[in-house]
Amino acid sequence: MNREATAVPRPADRVHLADLPLRPELAGEEPYGAPQLDVPVRLNVNENPYPPPGRIRAQIADAVAEAAKTLNRYPDREARDLRADLAHYLGFGLTADHIWAANGSNEAIMHVLEAFGGPGRTVLTFGPTYSMYPEYARGTHTGFVVVPRLPDHGLDVDLVQQAVADHRPDVMLIANPNNPTGTQVPVALIADICDRCDCLVVVDEAYQEFTEYPDDSALALLPNHPRLVVARTMSKAFALAGARVGYLAAAPAVVDACRIVRLPYHLSATTQAVARVALANSAALLGQVSRLRAQIQQLQHWLRGQGLDVPPSQANFCLFGPFEDRHAVWEALLARGVLVRETGPDNYLRVCAGTPAEMETFKTALLDAMPRRGRGEGQA
Ligand SMILES: *Cc1c(COP(=O)(O)O)cnc(C)c1O
Repeated sequence: MNREATAVPRPADRVHLADLPLRPELAGEEPYGAPQLDVPVRLNVNENPYPPPGRIRAQIADAVAEAAKTLNRYPDREARDLRADLAHYLGFGLTADHIWAANGSNEAIMHVLEAFGGPGRTVLTFGPTYSMYPEYARGTHTGFVVVPRLPDHGLDVDLVQQAVADHRPDVMLIANPNNPTGTQVPVALIADICDRCDCLVVVDEAYQEFTEYPDDSALALLPNHPRLVVARTMSKAFALAGARVGYLAAAPAVVDACRIVRLPYHLSATTQAVARVALANSAALLGQVSRLRAQIQQLQHWLRGQGLDVPPSQANFCLFGPFEDRHAVWEALLARGVLVRETGPDNYLRVCAGTPAEMETFKTALLDAMPRRGRGEGQA
């Protein structure tokens, strides 16, 4: 029977959001997110294009079946085993006490802002950068300040010190490598910043595994910097975006602050089980990282060869442009079955590393999509 056809009118369904006592700052806001379109080549959200291998999928299924035996019980609120596994994966002498895990690093960083931001406080970041950062601030009633990066999208101590003097932040967010530019600042600069600032410094290393020297991480600074937080995710290099697992490493006291603000049992038993299987197979899951890195390095070279400007990226994506009408190029690519991202500096688009076949499709589509006179145009 068609339930729709017999449904009685429901007055509550006709109420508009504007009729509800919504928080005023949310008026007119749209839900965040890149378009999720079902097209053959999806290069828009920096995912790993390789699904987990069959052998690991089978282990995940077994682990979930095992977890299902106790799904009537709440999961381990502290996710101790998972945090110990994450510490072991990171190395640098870290233990479970230094790790906090959540449903994506978005949630983990949100916990930091819930604990250290709030009304009357300020979070400072350097743009262009990750489009979720303003949402963390909005969600926690924290003031949000974006200071422009240097022209090459990097940072230096003077710029950061001046920004801190001007805005007196309580929390600083630095994506490194930065999204959407892919540019990376040296760990030595992060050390300088930590030495000179007394705010919490969150270094978001979502793409660290893709960089030329993945071990050259702000994690090395943690032993001497109690206000440093290094965020990581399993969504990108680990090819586990669908599982929603992110985490951070920090002083145990910072982790304690996150434990205060998290909702109890925030990480489901199945999430914890899946993540632990993934970590036990980290070498296999990370097996495509060097290939993806090579893909995106080659692509940057190719794009420059087409007369486009491409900031040097250490991540699994890069910006390219400028285009007089980037939306037209985005649409022309989409019409050819290729989805990229309209984000970052005006007139630029972002693309991420796919399989070799996907890269070829992207290149062919882009050559078709670029306005003839547009190649190199606007760079004079
Ligand atoms: C993708 C990304 C994340 C990860 O988000 P998850 O919630 O872990 O999926 C975090 N920071 C940046 C800069 C990102 O690009």
